[in-house]
Amino acid sequence: MSDLIRKIALVTGGSRGIGRAICLELASRGATVIVNYRSSEDAAREVVAEIEANGGTASAWQADVGDEEQVKDMFKSITSKESHGTIDILVNNAGMTRDNVIMMMKPEDFDAVINTNLRSTWLCCKTAVRTMMRKRTGSIINITSVVGIAGNGGQTNYAASKAGIIGMTKSLAKEVAPRGITVNAVAPGFVGTDMTADLSDELKEGAISAIPLGRMGTPEDIATAVAFLASPGASYITGQTLVVDGGMVM
Ligand code: NAP
Repeated sequence: MSDLIRKIALVTGGSRGIGRAICLELASRGATVIVNYRSSEDAAREVVAEIEANGGTASAWQADVGDEEQVKDMFKSITSKESHGTIDILVNNAGMTRDNVIMMMKPEDFDAVINTNLRSTWLCCKTAVRTMMRKRTGSIINITSVVGIAGNGGQTNYAASKAGIIGMTKSLAKEVAPRGITVNAVAPGFVGTDMTADLSDELKEGAISAIPLGRMGTPEDIATAVAFLASPGASYITGQTLVVDGGMVM
């Protein structure tokens, strides 16, 4: 499929896991992809190399999306005339967990998760819509989680960040729809990445037994949903949260 040809896409946290799969999927459909990462430089460069080996175009960009100045510099550089000159697709995927029961959770663990997951999404949206509004087109896809819909014990910080993303997605969708920009969210269920790798076998088995389709999701399951929402075929969809979880939450 080449429905994203000539589109410039930025994927935050594109070096590993779900973000990596999104970068590969968008590139396979013709988009030029900027692979943002915070610390995994080698992994980000491997994603770029894999895209280029498949005939696509990509570059890696280091920035902590929780840091306002670094976000501004990244967008300024991407949208400069010497670089890509614009941005068509923004995927806010970077995320982290710092799980604990509320009695044991430190305020700094709450703040870190809200900053990396929620505030970063707001910052990147705010910066990207500046360019998209001028062009009167653009797609933003925010990665939330089923935890933001259903909740999960031990994840009060993470659930708050992901529920916040759903509300932000709807509000921004209403705000920028008159300028031809769509804003949607994708809510993965239980997906096999570094983020879930350390969970105990007991926890994993419990989670899988609650999934009607009987298996964990793969990063590629999420990536194809994101690519659809970024594609012209989804141009009449905005403000929605697409749950991709094998039926876990319905
Ligand atoms: P992962 O394997 O831990 O990868 C996280 C990615 O985010 C890495 O590329 C990491 O880059 C990047 N990142 C983290 N903090 C960043 C920051 N401040 N600035 C820039 N990049 C940053 O996680 P994942 O499982 O793929 O999760 C991706 C997204 O899906 C997250 O938003 C997560 O909440 C969501 N999600 C995951 C699951 C699941 O089951 N895995 C379920 C629902 C939702 P570096 O390595 O360079 O730090």
